[in-house]
Amino acid sequence: MDAVTESIWELIRENADHRGIWVNMRRLWRALSDWMLDAEQFSEEFAELEEYGLILTFIDDEKTQIVIRKSRWLCPHCVNLVNELPSEHMEPCLERQRKLAEIRR
Ligand SMILES: [Zn+2]
Repeated sequence: MDAVTESIWELIRENADHRGIWVNMRRLWRALSDWMLDAEQFSEEFAELEEYGLILTFIDDEKTQIVIRKSRWLCPHCVNLVNELPSEHMEPCLERQRKLAEIRR
């Protein structure tokens, strides 16, 4: 997940309802309004988040609606469900994996 996708994921979570499921699209689009991306680029970003299994997008009343499927993602290194952003998690996670590998040796 690159930095742009990650920032969009963060904004999606920030603009979800209290249950963390339905995204308030009006607030999300407002938050994304000064980003230099066009509609096609946004749908590519949303598609990538869909591939991670994090969100589901569909068209409702001719408008894009986003539903959060999971607020956590599966880290391929420690195989834990992680709530932090990938950029916050990856470095300490890889460091932990490296130390564990040393202990096991
Ligand atoms: Zn991890």
